[in-house]
Amino acid sequence: MKWPLIFLLVLCISCKEKKEAEGSVAKEIAKNKWIDLSYDFSDKTLYWPTANGFKLDTAFHGVTPSGFYYEAYNYCAAEHGGTHLDAPVHFAKGKWSTDQIPLDRLTGEAIVIDVSNNALKNADYLVTVADIEAWEKANEKLPDDIIILLRTGYGSFYPDAKKYLGTDERGAEAVAKLHFPGIDPDLATWLVKNRKIKAVGLDVASVDYGQSKDFKTHQILYEQNIPGFENVANLDKLPVKGAFIIALPMKIKGGSGGPLRIVAVVPGE
Ligand SMILES: [Zn+2]
Repeated sequence: MKWPLIFLLVLCISCKEKKEAEGSVAKEIAKNKWIDLSYDFSDKTLYWPTANGFKLDTAFHGVTPSGFYYEAYNYCAAEHGGTHLDAPVHFAKGKWSTDQIPLDRLTGEAIVIDVSNNALKNADYLVTVADIEAWEKANEKLPDDIIILLRTGYGSFYPDAKKYLGTDERGAEAVAKLHFPGIDPDLATWLVKNRKIKAVGLDVASVDYGQSKDFKTHQILYEQNIPGFENVANLDKLPVKGAFIIALPMKIKGGSGGPLRIVAVVPGE
């Protein structure tokens, strides 16, 4: 008869511990502040010159015949525009589609590498291995399972297409006129061989630079199931280290990407 009592007691203690632990998550988060890393979606949202822009049609707006107020809209847009996710399948056959990416790969600790000094002087700037090495020299070796966020400084131009993309023209012919920085394919290769990263994000429209013709960086990263976050906002508001990223795309089944709500939790004051 004694054993069941002891068992119950142990069970109660572990329940209490679990409750305290649950409470502490909320407490820990409350000590920090949230930073929104997404642009809003509107008719100003920037899309690739060949992609359909964001369209919001009013289904109803006003007082209904029954006397209550009501508004609702239909929306339509390409997957790849504004702040969005690139699922690995976007450039790598058989890799994760939007709905298949584990949550663990879309959340985690981030570091910010600021290359704006060079990138703002050269719209065709490629982020190189030397940029990462310089960051590591000033900080530490890139930790495992890190989300890398590259700050080119081009976020300050959004949504001015001419400054941000290099052209405000639309259509297939505008693609050759795109000028914005991106990741050197040699760096992409170096990262997948030498470091263990969860995802890559940056404050331009593509992980490859505007003048890329073969989208090599997309191919190299996505082949390894490393998702990309593009047109990420407010990277200037993040610390170099210590931010926790939550990047949740619309869960499009079989999608190659999608609108992304990405936020950071950073140590607050
Ligand atoms: Zn994309």
